[in-house]
Amino acid sequence: MHAHVSRVWNFSAGPAALPQAVLECAQREMLDWNGSGASVMEQSHRGKRFIEMAERTEADLRSLLAIPSDYAVLFLQGGATQQFAQIPMNLAGDGDSADYIVSGHWSAKAVSEASSYVRVNVAASAAADDYLKLPERASWQLDPQAAYVHYAPNETIHGVEFHDIPDVGPVPLVADMSSNILSEPLDVSRFGLIYAGAQKNIGPSGLVVMIIRRDLLQRAGRPMAKIFRYAEQAANDSMLNTPNTWGWYVAGLTFRWLHEQGGLAVMAQRNRAKAALLYATIDGSGGYYRNSIEPAARSRMNVRFTLRDNALDAAFLAESEAAGLMALKGHKALGGMRASLYNAVPMEAVEALTAFMRDFAQRHG
Ligand code: PMP
Repeated sequence: MHAHVSRVWNFSAGPAALPQAVLECAQREMLDWNGSGASVMEQSHRGKRFIEMAERTEADLRSLLAIPSDYAVLFLQGGATQQFAQIPMNLAGDGDSADYIVSGHWSAKAVSEASSYVRVNVAASAAADDYLKLPERASWQLDPQAAYVHYAPNETIHGVEFHDIPDVGPVPLVADMSSNILSEPLDVSRFGLIYAGAQKNIGPSGLVVMIIRRDLLQRAGRPMAKIFRYAEQAANDSMLNTPNTWGWYVAGLTFRWLHEQGGLAVMAQRNRAKAALLYATIDGSGGYYRNSIEPAARSRMNVRFTLRDNALDAAFLAESEAAGLMALKGHKALGGMRASLYNAVPMEAVEALTAFMRDFAQRHG
């Protein structure tokens, strides 16, 4: 059916690689989905077929993450960025404050966007360390009266990741898991709210998956249009208006694929092994490649590295692309390189990358 398709190893930070099996399934079903004679994109979200798919998708996510029944799952739009504003709108009332932990670009962005809706207390920040380590838990200035504590367990641009869930007591913990959701098993009960833009570990952009403890739906928040209110979305099965039907469908294919792989414990093992190989290659290069992040804070999902001689950056990028390794250029704010190793990136891709890196270093030594 697709004899001459050639796929590269894709290290994009997002929108990112999707499992090939998911893309092939979507391709097979493109013209005639589920015996309907039409694409999933061409039919009503109120139809029986779509509702069944949506329910199965939620059930598959619930079983993957063992989501307790006192949590609602929402399929929203507007990206993770919209949630930076919507979270304080929903969870904080007049005069409330909220604690924010700043560990990189995205958690800093969350602070600036939330500031219009809530009194933000930056309880800890690693900005002074250039985000090369995480703000130490002992130094956090948490307020027991805070409406919630917000943090980003994985920073996509800075390449730092929390490897434990911080204990913040009874205040609801809110996590931006855009770039590490579904990368390992998770104790959902430790969180008040988890949200993730889909375009890294779930599916196409334009979809946000949210897991929210139901009691938080009862928070009054502030006056706002229904479309912004989590309680309304939950009461209407995330179909208050027309949802991102395509994104929801592809997310469902990814969840099924994750189950077929053996679930999140298997993914966690693979993700650890992939990151370990790449960091070992960087650290073992005699300084040719470098990652200066404190080892305990290094991300498994987004691996940053620089070349000792940055005059070789352009050659590294051109040659890696020619070798079928896509999207290794680091974020423009930081320069250097970045390889994102989400679920859909197989070990083979990391083996190809590390072989290329060793070869490049030898040739341009
Ligand atoms: N948070 C994190 C951790 C991200 O990586 C991103 C996107 N790269 C965002 C938030 C913003 O997501 P979106 O573009 O979906 O608004």
